[in-house]
Amino acid sequence: MLNLRAHHLICISRFSGTAWYNDECKGNAWRIFDEIQKNPNQIVNIKNSCDDFCEKCPHIKEGICDKPSKYKISHWVRVMDNKTLRLIKIKPDTTHKISELIDKAIEKIKDEELKTICKGCEFLPICLEFGINKSFKEI
Ligand code: SF4
Ligand code: SF4
Repeated sequence: MLNLRAHHLICISRFSGTAWYNDECKGNAWRIFDEIQKNPNQIVNIKNSCDDFCEKCPHIKEGICDKPSKYKISHWVRVMDNKTLRLIKIKPDTTHKISELIDKAIEKIKDEELKTICKGCEFLPICLEFGINKSFKEI
């Protein structure tokens, strides 16, 4: 079963295939994205801590995201996760069908919410310009 941290649902919904930290991270992200595309009915576990994307990311240190933030928020990605969880109204460490989670993320997190949740991410301009991945329906 895939483990996904909540804000990565937004990253998946706006997956442009262009925003990476390194090649290993890129290969892993494409693998996860393809797996979701092939089986949108699969059940995934939602978390507010490191997940299957983070496993191959250069910013993971001892199982925790250590990415620096200009906003000086300690564990800022967890803040992003918790904001996402509140908006889509689900609890961490629960299981759901991935297609339903993506639908909720698309429905509840429009560009205005994206600007607030993702303000510390350097890929924000890309995600704003790209919008929702065309393989998912706009809601
Ligand atoms: S930056 Fe942090 S949250 Fe994002 S993939 Fe890397 S370890 Fe995970
Ligand atoms: S701005 Fe960053 S965190 Fe937000 S959806 Fe895009 S890649 Fe993910």
